[in-house]
Amino acid sequence: MTCEYCNGNVNTSALCCEHCGRIVEPHATGTLECEHHPIPAIGLCVVCARPVCSDCAVVHDHRIFCGSPEHPKLFEEYELLYIAESEFEVDLIRRNNPDATLQFRTFPYSDHWTLVFDGRMNGVRLFVHREAATQARDYLKARDLIE
Ligand SMILES: [Zn+2]
Ligand SMILES: [Zn+2]
Ligand SMILES: [Zn+2]
Repeated sequence: MTCEYCNGNVNTSALCCEHCGRIVEPHATGTLECEHHPIPAIGLCVVCARPVCSDCAVVHDHRIFCGSPEHPKLFEEYELLYIAESEFEVDLIRRNNPDATLQFRTFPYSDHWTLVFDGRMNGVRLFVHREAATQARDYLKARDLIE
């Protein structure tokens, strides 16, 4: 389906749009609270996945950020490569990194989830420096980790 906020393509089972971070229908709001206030989050920071309400969210280019000044900058330099199922999987990817040229940054959802939402809250967001993104994608494809 299409995200009503950014027109990106969203998997129907996803809690939020991976392009802009907005919580999407049918999950809608109320599922998740802002990390700072006991009110519903409107989305997750596209970098660290921290849930934020409309007061806390900082929106750049239709994307939701948590308010950390570093995250929009990080988003410019790094791109989301893959959402791994666990830290273990990320470790494997790091260890197999052929020449250590791929700079990864990871943000586990579990840093922020206090509430378990049928398993989709697990996972680790794996970012790679944009300059190495093509190389990283080929690398993960060669290992059948992404399509
Ligand atoms: Zn979106
Ligand atoms: Zn953030
Ligand atoms: Zn808030």
